[in-house]
Amino acid sequence: MAVLEVLNARKSFGENEVLKDISFSVDKGEVVAIIGPSGSGKSTLLRCCTILERLDAGCIRYSQDTLVETTVDGSARYADKTTMKRIRQRFGLVFQSFNLFPHLSVMDNLTEAPVHVVGVDKGAAKKKAVELLAKMGLSDKAGAYPFELSGGQQQRVAIARAMALDPEILFFDEPTSALDPELTGEILKVMRELAQEHMTMVVVTHEMSFARNVADRVIFMDKGLIVEQGDPRNVIDHPENERTKLFLQKIA
Ligand code: ADP
Ligand code: MG
Repeated sequence: MAVLEVLNARKSFGENEVLKDISFSVDKGEVVAIIGPSGSGKSTLLRCCTILERLDAGCIRYSQDTLVETTVDGSARYADKTTMKRIRQRFGLVFQSFNLFPHLSVMDNLTEAPVHVVGVDKGAAKKKAVELLAKMGLSDKAGAYPFELSGGQQQRVAIARAMALDPEILFFDEPTSALDPELTGEILKVMRELAQEHMTMVVVTHEMSFARNVADRVIFMDKGLIVEQGDPRNVIDHPENERTKLFLQKIA
C-alpha cells in the first residue's frame, strides 16, 4: 500500500524548471533514499511533499487523502483546509539545520504542535514526548534548551519532534550535512533503528553507506528529473545511467 504517491509533479521558480515530471511512490515501511547533485531539485521535491512549496502541476496523495491534483485546465488544485490539516499530521520533516524553537525547552519543543496545533491533551503529549526522548537516548534533556545541546543532540530532538504526532511517513533533508562525522554517526544510528522498526522514510542524503545499507530503494535525481531508481546495490554499485555514474565518481 502506498503511503505517498507523487504523479507528474512539476515546479518552476520563474524560468527555472526545478521539477520536471517527477513520479514515484513510497510503500508502507519502505525507506527511500534520494541522491543527486546539488541543485537537482531534491529539497524542492521534499518541500512540495510537505506543503512548504506548491506544485505548478501534478498530483500528491497521502494514503486516501489527495493533497493536490491537476484539473482539466492543467493547473494544480489543492485540498481544502480540513484535509490539509489532516495531511499535515501524516508526515514529519527533519531539516539539515535542526530548526528547533530556540526559546523553548526540549519538552516544549516536542509538545508545542501536538498541544497548540492539534489540540492533544497536555498530559498525553508529555507522555509521548518522554517516550520519544527515551528512544532518542535523551531522557535527561527534557528541561534543556537547544543552545545547551550538541548538534547531534539537537538533531535527535528534531527527529523526536517530527515523530510527536505519530506520522505515517518521515522526510529527512540531508539530516547529517551540518554535523561532524562522529555526530553524523549518532544520527545515522537512530535512523537505522527507525528503519528496523519499519518506519516509512524518505531521506535526501549524501551518505552513500546509509543509502546502500539501509534504504530499500534509491532514487537518483539530476536537473529536476528522476534519472534512475531501484535497489541500492544496483543504483549505487552498478549504475546504468551516465549521469549517475558521473555523480557517484565525483562523491566517491
Ligand atoms: P537540491 O536540494 O537538490 O540541492 P533545490 O531543490 O534546493 O536542489 O534547488 C533546485 C533549484 O531550485 C536550484 O536551482 C535552486 O536555486 C532553485 N530554488 C530552490 N528554491 C528556490 C526558491 N525559493 N526560489 C527560487 N529558486 C529556488
Ligand atoms: Mg537540498
